[in-house]
Amino acid sequence: MSMTDDNQLQKIIAHAKEYGFIFQSSEIYDGLSAVYDYGPYGSELKKNIRDYWWKSMTQMHNNIVGIDAAIFMQPTTWKASGHLANFSDPLIDNKDSKKRYRVDHLIEQFAEKLEKNNEHEEARTLLHEMEELLKQDDFDGLKTLIEKNKITCPISGTANWTPIRQFNLMFSTQLGSVSDEANEIYLRPETAQGIFVNFLNVQKSARMKIPFGIAQTGKAFRNEIVARQFIFRMREFEQMEMQFFIQPGTQKEWYEYWKKERLQWHLSLGIEATKYRFHDHVKLAHYADAAVDIEYDFPFGFKEVEGIHSRTDFDLSNHQKFSNKKLTYFDPELNKHYIPYVIETSIGLDRMCLLILSHSYEEEILKKEDDSVDTRTVMHIPPFIAPIKLAILPLTKKDGLPEIARDIFDTCKQEFRCFYEEKDTIGKRYRRQDAIGTPFCITIDHQSKEDQMVTLRYRDSMKQERIPISSITQIIQNYLRV
Ligand code: ATP
Repeated sequence: MSMTDDNQLQKIIAHAKEYGFIFQSSEIYDGLSAVYDYGPYGSELKKNIRDYWWKSMTQMHNNIVGIDAAIFMQPTTWKASGHLANFSDPLIDNKDSKKRYRVDHLIEQFAEKLEKNNEHEEARTLLHEMEELLKQDDFDGLKTLIEKNKITCPISGTANWTPIRQFNLMFSTQLGSVSDEANEIYLRPETAQGIFVNFLNVQKSARMKIPFGIAQTGKAFRNEIVARQFIFRMREFEQMEMQFFIQPGTQKEWYEYWKKERLQWHLSLGIEATKYRFHDHVKLAHYADAAVDIEYDFPFGFKEVEGIHSRTDFDLSNHQKFSNKKLTYFDPELNKHYIPYVIETSIGLDRMCLLILSHSYEEEILKKEDDSVDTRTVMHIPPFIAPIKLAILPLTKKDGLPEIARDIFDTCKQEFRCFYEEKDTIGKRYRRQDAIGTPFCITIDHQSKEDQMVTLRYRDSMKQERIPISSITQIIQNYLRV
């Protein structure tokens, strides 16, 4: 399945809406830009991905525990973390169209154009120059680079640019009823700081010994300037983050360990390794001594889905400094106190949902026995994270078939998410389940009354086989194991 064009993304967006995965937020009021709601099947998919991540991190690692910290935090947190001073993107405005762009996005888009024109060397040089200038925060140099390459605004077509400025991405609001600066608080731009400020609470209460990790999932907010590509870049989104606390000096080996471990997690979903690649950061965030993105080949090209960051002791040291509270750990092995170093794994849950939708969506051409062709839209969602695992479909609405089907539904619903439907032809019902990614359907027919067998139909191969009613749950459970 190769999906490289924007057309493909538009099809996925339309499909996600039609089949209850994702809706534009406040759509009846014409929507809110870069904010989305998850529908009946989208919310199940999102929950299943979150649960799988949570299980992989906590249940599967004896030395990782979870927390659920608040979105609002004491505002000094963001001074200590560096977000107030540094969490910003360089922006440029086109004076004619009045459109604002992230400088790196504008240049990257131009590089993509060069690539399409087979000017590979030029594209590579441009991106390299950009990364070097970004690393040095050289805004004049970036502006010169834009001018030198004659990069124009996609809307106005002109190169009438303002100087480049920094723009902080944090949303702020007021705590309580008085609106003055002292009450200004922020919506967290990452979940990680809730973990850092609770480092000692967790370490002591759960009796953790280094190396150990703290995992958390939750909402984060960023006032993204260029919000595009559906749920890839949102202003309100969900992160799944894990901070792994280690002895200083061991960061290189743990960084490599988590790089491998996290890629393995992605591959465990059954997605081809060729769809992934690592991208090392040249410009490091203010807290990192090494950073890499795990990129996925989305319909719009390879883009970041997860970041792995070696954060040193930056966060804990700064929280210690700003709070005047000791945040050191006593290491019984080394017999000394120190501030641990940290390796972070940070993945966007919404980007992960888009990844699964992109991976799964297929318009399949089916050749019929009489040589005519038909198409079906099928979502090849990995069975264990599919919104619905089993659809239970009586062939007709009468002759006692619905009763048998309801009994099966009542048994199976205890084990996994099922769906019952008796309306429409069986062909139409199969197609609807294919479109929401249900991996298995069973059909109850007249023969079932005689032999206590039903037809099991597989989504991907469309193969069918007869199985005993008594073994349905066991057979499906076997397929749902990772
Ligand atoms: P980008 O370069 O795409 O802006 P980032 O490097 O700022 O991302 P991180 O701060 O490393 O992202 O955040 C960790 C993860 O959170 C990202 O890998 C991504 O999956 C997710 N994420 C970040 N920003 C957004 C957003 N605006 N919408 C959806 N997911 C996001």
